[in-house]
Amino acid sequence: MPFLSIAIDGPAGAGKSTLARRLAQEIDFLYVDTGAIYRTVGLFVEKNRKNCVDSNEVIPLLDKIQMRIAYAEDGLQHMYLQGEDVTEEIRHNRVSQYASQVSAIPEVRSFLIDMQRTLAKEHNVVMDGRDIGTIVLPKADLKIFLTASAEKRAKRRYQELLQKGSNLPFEQILEELIRRDEADMNRSVAPLRQAEDAVLLDTSDLDLEESFLALYAIVKEKFDL
Ligand code: C5P
Repeated sequence: MPFLSIAIDGPAGAGKSTLARRLAQEIDFLYVDTGAIYRTVGLFVEKNRKNCVDSNEVIPLLDKIQMRIAYAEDGLQHMYLQGEDVTEEIRHNRVSQYASQVSAIPEVRSFLIDMQRTLAKEHNVVMDGRDIGTIVLPKADLKIFLTASAEKRAKRRYQELLQKGSNLPFEQILEELIRRDEADMNRSVAPLRQAEDAVLLDTSDLDLEESFLALYAIVKEKFDL
């Protein structure tokens, strides 16, 4: 029997990873956070002191990168870079911009696509990202486009970072988020957009629990759970 796949795309900070991870746990699917994969490449470029926007500097690094995904017992996705667990480090705010910049390079995207498709070939997956429903898994069994207003998304990110002890000003977070959205939506390769057959879920006026219930309702209806 072929495996099932649920694609969840949307802009930064829409709650994709939190909701997708919980959904995967609930229905016993593997959760694949593709942003973490791009973040790991971004971190590698940074560690090698190369310029993230210069494809001539980034492409030769792809031969040298040793990246591995491993799943902990609790379903948490760990990223390993050159043998080191970088799961925490890739979450740093500065890595978000590097990830966004390297992800606009076509060779980086094609380098990572097989890794993502292989996971979906071998497991039931909930996969989140920007181009999962459009490019990576165009035949996904269910596609969801998860979004919220930029202000709401920035506010959530601000609170999340505050809890982690960061004191980045709200205005800076909002500005960076808008910049990243624009870059993700306007790049020529695999831009962020809603797939035609994706269900739109706007969580601007929903809290986390309500967002999850709305997402779960869509999944329940589709798969007759
Ligand atoms: O989802 P997250 O914020 O961790 O993603 C970091 C960056 O990686 C995004 O801003 C985007 O540029 C890139 N990305 C992508 N395609 C994906 C997932 C992430 O281009 N499928």
